[in-house]
Amino acid sequence: MATATPAAEGILAQYESVIGLEVHCQLLTATKIFCGCRNHFGDEPNTNVCPVCLGLPGALPVLSRESVTLAMRAALSTHCTVQPVSIFARKNYFYPDLPKGYQISQYERPLATAGHIEIPRDGGFFKVRLNRIHMEEDAGKLVHEGFGWSREKSGVDFNRGGVPLIEIVTEPDLRSSQEAHDYLTALKAVLLYAEVSDCNMEEGSLRCDANVSVRRRGTEPFGTRVEIKNLNSFRNVARAIDHEIVRQVRVIESGGALVQETRLYNADRDETISMRSKEEAHDYRYFPEPDLPPLTVSSSWIDEVRRSLPEMPAAKRERFVSAYGVPDYDAGVLTLSRDVADYFETVAKASGNAKAASNWVMTDVLRKLKDDDRALSACPVKPEQLAEMIGLIDKGTISGKIAKDVFEKMWTTGDAPGAIVEREGLLQVSDEGALQAAVDEVVAASAPQVAQYKGGKDNIGWFVGQVMRKTGGKANPQIVNSLLKKKLDE
Ligand SMILES: [Zn+2]
Repeated sequence: MATATPAAEGILAQYESVIGLEVHCQLLTATKIFCGCRNHFGDEPNTNVCPVCLGLPGALPVLSRESVTLAMRAALSTHCTVQPVSIFARKNYFYPDLPKGYQISQYERPLATAGHIEIPRDGGFFKVRLNRIHMEEDAGKLVHEGFGWSREKSGVDFNRGGVPLIEIVTEPDLRSSQEAHDYLTALKAVLLYAEVSDCNMEEGSLRCDANVSVRRRGTEPFGTRVEIKNLNSFRNVARAIDHEIVRQVRVIESGGALVQETRLYNADRDETISMRSKEEAHDYRYFPEPDLPPLTVSSSWIDEVRRSLPEMPAAKRERFVSAYGVPDYDAGVLTLSRDVADYFETVAKASGNAKAASNWVMTDVLRKLKDDDRALSACPVKPEQLAEMIGLIDKGTISGKIAKDVFEKMWTTGDAPGAIVEREGLLQVSDEGALQAAVDEVVAASAPQVAQYKGGKDNIGWFVGQVMRKTGGKANPQIVNSLLKKKLDE
């Protein structure tokens, strides 16, 4: 889009994109969904397999209770209604990584329906509607590289076959690639809070397909929908959607017709290529899985799961705004991860200064973590130490400027701020006698600026900066300010 000419951008602006996302998410269970095999990424190929997940004749699936519990956690965390009865179905298709010739999924009667995820829109928050969440088993994986024989043939690793998945399907509520990105960010936060999945996209725990169509602004009917697969990062989801929007508008503007199809995104070339005409549900010959009874969940089980859920990001965000007076945007950033939210809240409570806590966490802590590529759990500055440092600023023991240096030293040494201040002699100088000399010197050496001040220019901040520099940042700026005023107004 960035390279589009102004004329092309004008044409694009006449169209609105309509986007729906389907997210597959692997559940963090100990075992697979229908057998006792280990559910673990990265093991030697074909070591976590048994007759059930290899689809050997006569082997029967047994639904794991843990899978259902985690799927319900996802459903309740996204405000879905968990259905008391849902039905597993066979989705029939051939693929080498699917030894049974069908995947056990849910079709007409999914586990959960009608939920939502909140994303930012127009300065507020908008509820992206979820159509459904259903349970299914993952397929195996074709292995095309990494072995001595990889040039001649492909292998099949069945370790992933039978790993429990949920598929989370939105209504076509998203209107831009940015909103798709925001939705995925918010959904991932919820799934991590609920401890349903590790959401590791590189390992395939979270996978996304996008349904994209365009229509002229102001018109109601949806355009022809294209499904894009092979989106392995949030960034690529956004890029692929942008690319697809441009492609569809081009086809329409040149008088062509779009076909309903599935396209694959190639991130290296930033383009989508046609993979196949879009299959219809009837192509799969769905029918109820005869080897599994209907899944029934009691209201007491649902209640038990609901009670075990932590506070979700949206609720936490609202609480941070009302309880701590944190701005909406900041509260959104602070609650994206549970660890960061907990860290902030510990600092806010211990320091009694939520605004400072939010500023320090949002800027310094998150920036340093990013620079060092560290997780918050490995943060060298403990929340109690940051709270102590905020206390030192609030009490006037150190200046805000020195605090930045103290923070750097806390980061590298892990020492407490009080100890660093004492060791390095960083105490803030509030003694008027001690500061007067510096003020006098600065004023004496700044005749042009003094003349400007006398002429009515409000340049007191410049003088304060000079005195701060002279004192190595240790002067109390309020006292410097009042001393300067007195001196300059003499
Ligand atoms: Zn198995």
